[in-house]
Amino acid sequence: MRLQGKVVVVTGAASGMGKAIAILFAKEGAKVVVSDLTLEGAGNTVAEITALGGVATAVTANVAVEADIHKLIKAAQNSYGTLDILVNNAGIMDDFSPVGDVKDGLWDRVFDVNVKGVMRATRQAMPIFLEKGAGTIINIASVGGLYGSRAGAAYTAAKHAVVGLTKNTAFQYATDGIKCNAIAPGGVNTNISASFQNPSERGIARAMAGADFNPRNGEPEDIARVALFLASADSDFVNGVVITADAGWTAY
Ligand code: NAD
Repeated sequence: MRLQGKVVVVTGAASGMGKAIAILFAKEGAKVVVSDLTLEGAGNTVAEITALGGVATAVTANVAVEADIHKLIKAAQNSYGTLDILVNNAGIMDDFSPVGDVKDGLWDRVFDVNVKGVMRATRQAMPIFLEKGAGTIINIASVGGLYGSRAGAAYTAAKHAVVGLTKNTAFQYATDGIKCNAIAPGGVNTNISASFQNPSERGIARAMAGADFNPRNGEPEDIARVALFLASADSDFVNGVVITADAGWTAY
């Protein structure tokens, strides 16, 4: 029980890594606010947690909408009295388009969800963490946030921004008992491909040039175990880092 009594918010927790993180954290004793775009999606994760004897509540929150973020962090306080751990996981892919083809609408959507959502949720949580003198933030970045062509221009630039935001937050609040780290997953078997249609042929061909070097895809639970380390006291001296979890793909 490495998270006994801790109150956690996980965004995008109806599917993939967010769902696996919510379930693992609940198994470790956390009270989990499970949020996603639909109540049905979040509710399914909550049902799995409660069937395992865990404690969780479902909240609808589109991380691209500030009022939803406000409601989400308030829900943690209203349901469980506080917030200890924020997992900024919700994210969408782009369509692999290189910068010459990128559409403003797609660029804005990817940045609104993948970057602005992370900033706003962290901003909303910060007064609670500062008052307690304790808080943990885990951002799900991507190897696309560390290297140049794992996706299109928008996703790559957005995930690089998440890495920068992680480091800035970590250092700015390092003397306030707050730690902020990120995970850069490689390929993980989730539903994320549902978030892109009509991928750019040129973009995907260039991005896939390095795919043969990927030793294997991971499962959401592989990432959840890394998140558990970053959420627990075991990582209390770890701040401002990005842990790559990719079976060695980017070691080549
Ligand atoms: P997924 O599609 O299985 O899950 C993402 C969840 O986020 C979904 O339940 C979706 O409904 C939710 N979501 C999407 N937009 C949202 C919004 N605006 N507000 C709230 N929730 C929203 O995908 P996943 O692979 O588990 O993705 C989780 C994170 O991991 C993302 O940030 C993604 O960029 C990152 N990532 C994924 C991979 C991969 O290979 N799957 C690799 C690196 C990084």
